Amino acid sequence: MTSKTFFHKALFLDRDGVINIDHGYVSKIEDFEFNDGIFELLHLFIEKGYKLFIVTNQSGIGRGYYSQNDFETLTTWMLEEFKKQNIHVESVHHCHHAPEALCACRKPATGMVDEILSLNSIDVKNSWLIGDKQSDIDLAKNSGIGSTIAIGERDIKNTTYSFSTIIEAKEFFEKNSLL
Ligand SMILES: [Mg+2]
Ligand SMILES: [Zn+2]
Repeated sequence: MTSKTFFHKALFLDRDGVINIDHGYVSKIEDFEFNDGIFELLHLFIEKGYKLFIVTNQSGIGRGYYSQNDFETLTTWMLEEFKKQNIHVESVHHCHHAPEALCACRKPATGMVDEILSLNSIDVKNSWLIGDKQSDIDLAKNSGIGSTIAIGERDIKNTTYSFSTIIEAKEFFEKNSLL
């Protein structure tokens, strides 16, 4: 008998500016506001069989603005809120380093995605990434993630799609069967 590995498509998600409004170094539940349309957008990917992974730079930890424990408390709460919406996130990966640490995990370095790919069977070429900064889109390129969605008003280069808001992205993917 031969066993065949099934490679899942994945959606790699930035957190601040994508899942939640980026108020700058969000670390408390009361400051965490889900972006309008994010649950609906994620449902579109889930329906098409994508597994969800969060990859987030959290240099606020390395800079001393909040603690690892603050981040974990907020993450636990966020995942519970997702669960209430029938959204399962496979895992959350964060880089806690300040930029000066020159680590291998701060986006656009590939450490977080490398870890995900080492633990899961992912069809990376047919996977997507959603981010709001050039470093997110560059991570996708550096990791071989096939398609990207840039959110917000920044001038982001080399992205497959760009939308001002999550709502606009959701409406676009509802109308067009690209996933
Ligand atoms: Mg962001
Ligand atoms: Zn790091």
